Amino acid sequence: MSATVIDGKAFAAEVREKVAGHVARLKADHGIIPGLAVVLIGEDPASSVYVRNKGKQTREVGMKSVEHRRDTDISEAELLALIDDLNTDDSIHGILVQLPLPDHLDAELVINAIDPAKDVDGFHISNVGLLGTGQKSMVPCTPLGCLMMLRDQHGSLSGLNAVVIGRSNIVGKPMAQLLLGESCTVTMAHSRTRDLPEVVRRADIVVAAVGRPQMVQGDWIKPGATVIDVGINRLAKEDGGTRLVGDVDYDSCAPVAGAITPVPGGVGPMTIACLLANTVTACCRANDLPEPEGLTV
Ligand code: NAD
Repeated sequence: MSATVIDGKAFAAEVREKVAGHVARLKADHGIIPGLAVVLIGEDPASSVYVRNKGKQTREVGMKSVEHRRDTDISEAELLALIDDLNTDDSIHGILVQLPLPDHLDAELVINAIDPAKDVDGFHISNVGLLGTGQKSMVPCTPLGCLMMLRDQHGSLSGLNAVVIGRSNIVGKPMAQLLLGESCTVTMAHSRTRDLPEVVRRADIVVAAVGRPQMVQGDWIKPGATVIDVGINRLAKEDGGTRLVGDVDYDSCAPVAGAITPVPGGVGPMTIACLLANTVTACCRANDLPEPEGLTV
């Protein structure tokens, strides 16, 4: 039997629809428009595309979108002053600094200068600590999207064995914290893990966030397991073009898994949708209004 394919594109559209509904109610009932500010330093083409998409989707759900583009040679003091302005701007509820930053800028310092209540990426050290101690926080967008899909697939995740492959601060670690919060038994695997296939074989839930094309093989997967593929890897094609693949070898895993996310069209589209969700959540919290249901943990 072949796995259920989890359609991230359709799921993300549902999340955006929910966000748009909340935004409309905030406007109608309270005269509040949630605002997201994105800061982009330099001309990195991939970052420019992400920022453009974020702005477009933010406007589409009825929120205010502001972009601050600055030259690569901006000083740290200038960038910190910009963040300070955004921190004190009441029309802005979410601030995102597009990473990576040029080498002369200290990314940790910059991220930790954002007001944690407006840190819609969930990377501020306060939000990391809040998530790690099971308190209300801003949750990083990609793992939040993965959790939404897992909840949708399973209902309760309590007691399930989850293996997260990859221990990055933006995906692997917060993913493991979220799964712990759902009462999974969580194993974090990484580049030094011994006998990774055997570790993965015990998992009811596998989340792969590694950055290695098609690494996870079908014979690593416990029959019926749910496989969430966060990886985005570009492979060269014979005709000179490229194609996107995940960290999971889809063709060998799909016949064994119970459910699986494809690449593209799985986790990817959920990330921006969750950024919008976080912005509306931040706006509700800032105004002491009830948080939207189903858009955060
Ligand atoms: P990262 O490079 O920061 O971390 C990779 C992790 O993989 C490390 O913790 C490392 O220990 C582990 N690893 C490396 N080789 C391994 C191996 N052979 N076996 C087991 N573990 C190994 O990466 P990241 O930022 O977490 O991103 C991971 C992947 O997810 C990348 O492909 C990235 O493009 C993608 N990504 C996608 C989204 C999205 O929106 N879908 C968002 C963020 C990242």
